[in-house]
Amino acid sequence: PAPSEPPYLRGLNEPQREAVLTTDGPVLVLAGAGTGKTAALTRRLAHILFQRKAYPSEILAVTFTNKAAREMRHRVGQLVGDAVEGMPWLGTFHSIGAKMLRRHAELVGLQSNFTILDTDDQKRLLKQLIQANELDEKRWPARQLAGLIDGWKNKGLTPGDLDAGDAEQYANGRGADLYAQYQERLKTLNACDFGDLLLHMLTILKTHREVLEQYQKRFRYILVDEYQDTNAVQYLWLRLLAQERKNIACVGDDDQSIYSWRGAQVENILKFERDFPGAAVIRLEQNYRSTPHILGAASGVIANNGGRLGKTLWTELDAGEKVRVLGVWDGPEEARRVGDEIESAQRGGTSLDDIAILVRAQHQTREFEDRFIAIGMPYRIIGGFRFYERAEIRDALAYLRIISQPADDLAFERIVNTPKRGLGDKAVAQIHAVARAEGVPLLTAAARLVGTDELQARARNALAAFIGDIARWRDMANDLPHPELARQMLDESGYTAMLQADKSAEAAGRLENLTELVRAMEEYETLGAFLEHVSLVMDNDAVADDAKVTIMTIHAAKGLEYDTVFLVGWEEGLFPSQRALDEGGIASLEEERRLAYVAITRARRRATIMHAANRRIYGQWNSSLPSRFVGELPKEHVEEETTMSGGESLWRANWSEHADPFADTARGSGRGPGWQRAAGKLGGEWTARTFTREAPRVIESRASAVSLGNKGRDDI
Ligand code: ATP
Ligand code: MG
Repeated sequence: PAPSEPPYLRGLNEPQREAVLTTDGPVLVLAGAGTGKTAALTRRLAHILFQRKAYPSEILAVTFTNKAAREMRHRVGQLVGDAVEGMPWLGTFHSIGAKMLRRHAELVGLQSNFTILDTDDQKRLLKQLIQANELDEKRWPARQLAGLIDGWKNKGLTPGDLDAGDAEQYANGRGADLYAQYQERLKTLNACDFGDLLLHMLTILKTHREVLEQYQKRFRYILVDEYQDTNAVQYLWLRLLAQERKNIACVGDDDQSIYSWRGAQVENILKFERDFPGAAVIRLEQNYRSTPHILGAASGVIANNGGRLGKTLWTELDAGEKVRVLGVWDGPEEARRVGDEIESAQRGGTSLDDIAILVRAQHQTREFEDRFIAIGMPYRIIGGFRFYERAEIRDALAYLRIISQPADDLAFERIVNTPKRGLGDKAVAQIHAVARAEGVPLLTAAARLVGTDELQARARNALAAFIGDIARWRDMANDLPHPELARQMLDESGYTAMLQADKSAEAAGRLENLTELVRAMEEYETLGAFLEHVSLVMDNDAVADDAKVTIMTIHAAKGLEYDTVFLVGWEEGLFPSQRALDEGGIASLEEERRLAYVAITRARRRATIMHAANRRIYGQWNSSLPSRFVGELPKEHVEEETTMSGGESLWRANWSEHADPFADTARGSGRGPGWQRAAGKLGGEWTARTFTREAPRVIESRASAVSLGNKGRDDI
């Protein structure tokens, strides 16, 4: 490179430079994982600032997470220094939407200091509405309504935009009306929910020309990362803002679209070229992140999806290690094995900060956390709470604590009205008063109060029943194994039912976490020993800036990279998830496969995929099959190992035997037993050539198969 070249251009390849330097007009960068999309977008931002094409306040830059926004700010700062200061419009859609809405709140009947409700507040409010409308809450749970409303908001639909079909899904066609009432309630509370941050702004931009023009003029340049996961309202919002200057650059990868459950529409990639005619479409093909084996493995899996836009990926990196597929006996062995591997990587000089464990579902972190506590391995959980800090786990632990220690007032307070049993703040205050006056624990005070007529009849009955339950559970504790006790307590207290009534994806995850908690208890002799273990786990806060292993979901890992990655629990029913299998459609299975692609491509040098032959649930061993995605890994890129006694043939046999039930969801013909099927199947879609430094290896090449405009629903 020329010595005079600005630092932000250094080391970029040709198409990347194009993505950076084509500042005017619409640009779409469509490229596979690790090809430097985010890097190019960051440098484009640096270029715009460095060349003074716009003031920092005239650039709108959208990232998928707050962490990504911080990172982009930091990188740009390194490239161009202070110019990045005061970039108010760099952030997530939500954070930018909130900032804008505060300026114009009055246009939608809010004040600028409006509150943003979290999902709990939102549900509470909806519940009140459902009651006020005299609907049966059991039949029409608040969560279902919340899910519908979120869905409408993601699509950019206000109550007035709904058609009969939309509204029919809830309470015999009363959905639209309840949505309207909810919006009214929010207005009186001077509040809005997350969905409103963009929907209100969209309404304002559509109905107030002067506001729209102001922003269209202001934003000289618009940049969007992870474009494949934008939803309809985000797209409409972007399109309006960009319509005037049309200097909008979006980068994305259709194979990494993993948020359709939150309304993301990968079709937005196709809409872009239609709505911004003449857009420069740039394809990046060189992958800088991963070794050929890792790329080959990821490409082999994703090749099983249909309707892809098609991309070529190659790398100059040395072949490196093959992707390891490790079959273990059960969950605890998986955790032990990962712990051992990490310790040996550490001895080999790898920092813990460069190691990540990616799980499909939150509850999977528990096994690793417990193991890491036991061996003193520092870890962090990203995008979620540590297992034992999650709300439902704390609730369940509170039930257990009050059994083992009746004087545990904090536990009592936590669960006295969870699930709701009509013991409001007033009743709780009365219990406290008695406890203070008599110097006894809350549970004792509650028992005394029940014997008087100080409480209202309803509260008295509820409290008496609760105290009776606790006494009964304490008796049961003498005879029942403690995991069974926990399970019965969660059932009889109504806690499980509360989560079951809740139809959201979150609630399903919470139920899984509780199952996992019971599973964890099985590893301890007594309830006391288990609770002791938990309090030690809770105390394991290592010094903040020590190196730590990262544990997180695949969803949270999007856009990130690690030297060494463990991909655990690749079993049918876990990954692909049971939910995806139950839904049965090819769409949900393909989304799981995109997750697999995202997961593998997080690794720079080393990827290990694990599956256990057995998982224990409620004391029962369930045997599990390796994920079909394991079977889809091209053989030449993987190295298999199994620790099971005679296990290899066992699980291979399992897979073949069970391969057929999935045949309907498999793409193409000739789907034999998964494992053997892997390499040859991809037919004309797959090419792999050996490479030299001069002639790089083509990891995957597919023709651009989808013509514009013929895919997806046109709902704009
Ligand atoms: P993803 O699809 O996972 O979000 P991406 O396309 O955004 O990936 P980046 O994260 O931007 O890819 O880049 C992947 C890695 O490649 C990073 O470590 C980045 O620093 C490096 N990289 C990008 N471009 C180049 C380049 N021209 N030369 C050397 N390294 C590069
Ligand atoms: Mg990226």
